Amino acid sequence: MQFEFTDLNLTLREPFVIAREVQTRHRHVLVRVRDGDIEGLGEAAPRAFYGETAETVRACLPLLAQALQDSDPFAVEEAWAGMERRLGGNHAVKAAVDEALHDWIGKRLGVPLWHLLGGNPAAAPRTSYTIGIDTPEGMARKAIAARAYPILKVKLGTEDDVARMRAIRSARPEAVLRADANTAWSPRQAVTSLERLAEFGLELVEQPVAAHDLAGLRFVRERSPVPIFADESCAVLSDVPRVAECVDGIVVKLSKCGGIRPALAMIHAARAQGLAVMLGCMTESSLGITAAAHLAPLADYADLDGHLLLADDPFHGVEVVDGRLVLPTGPGLGVERISESANQQITNQQIANRPSAIENRKSEIGNG
Ligand SMILES: [Mg+2]
Repeated sequence: MQFEFTDLNLTLREPFVIAREVQTRHRHVLVRVRDGDIEGLGEAAPRAFYGETAETVRACLPLLAQALQDSDPFAVEEAWAGMERRLGGNHAVKAAVDEALHDWIGKRLGVPLWHLLGGNPAAAPRTSYTIGIDTPEGMARKAIAARAYPILKVKLGTEDDVARMRAIRSARPEAVLRADANTAWSPRQAVTSLERLAEFGLELVEQPVAAHDLAGLRFVRERSPVPIFADESCAVLSDVPRVAECVDGIVVKLSKCGGIRPALAMIHAARAQGLAVMLGCMTESSLGITAAAHLAPLADYADLDGHLLLADDPFHGVEVVDGRLVLPTGPGLGVERISESANQQITNQQIANRPSAIENRKSEIGNG
């Protein structure tokens, strides 16, 4: 197998705010695995919160390429064990390699990945669309603009979460609402907040307290009127039994756990513990989102909207129609690269009414 990797710079349509940070662009890495005349693609979406950056990804890839150069691309389990032996942690980079291997296998066999994984694409749950933190009025405006999506995930962890949730509920009375505090609350704050927020009809809430605070998670779950899901507290397979008594469900993300193989293991481990499963994502291109979407038929909930937040998605793959995930039918991941010129045209159309995004884009183009 030969490996190649190139930068994948993504610009968001507008700044995306969560409790601990503001995101405007992401530096990802595109991984290509070639064996014979078939090429598999994967996307590394590193996040500093989990100890990875584009630099660490680029530093790790030659090590992983060396470890796998003589491997059979079909032997994904062995490839994954080989990556683990060579390098601890660094799950976003391993996810990119794992995605590329699954893409390669599907292309080699001529079947879509969901078919290989035993899923029924019609069984994929609808995805939520995420509303980032803004003023209550700003969040209500975004909720109305997102009327094509029947499920909204609302980012919280502000000085007045109740006002924000009230504004969104009155803007979208029919919507299914989920919330994500991204570790912002203390356990007691979380209980108080959720008792007040419950009147807006929350389906579930992600990660109310700090990632390491499992006792806090359990404290909240025992008192909360809203089901609790672990996201930051449940990154990898070994976290599943640790959080099992503290939450109602877990959020599985390829970039946190290392790809499709370990995500499958996490889904099965969660089932064994009686936990519900949400499939989540980072803000990433249609390449990484589509890789995760192939697992959606195995999940109870989906939050696979990262590509919808981009001004310049360079790939085309899974589509979202009324919140439904329409999985590709092409072989492997079924993802196609939009040509540079076509990408540019679409980007120009998409950002026509977004001055800040246009300025970002102009500076990128200006810098070549
Ligand atoms: Mg989350």
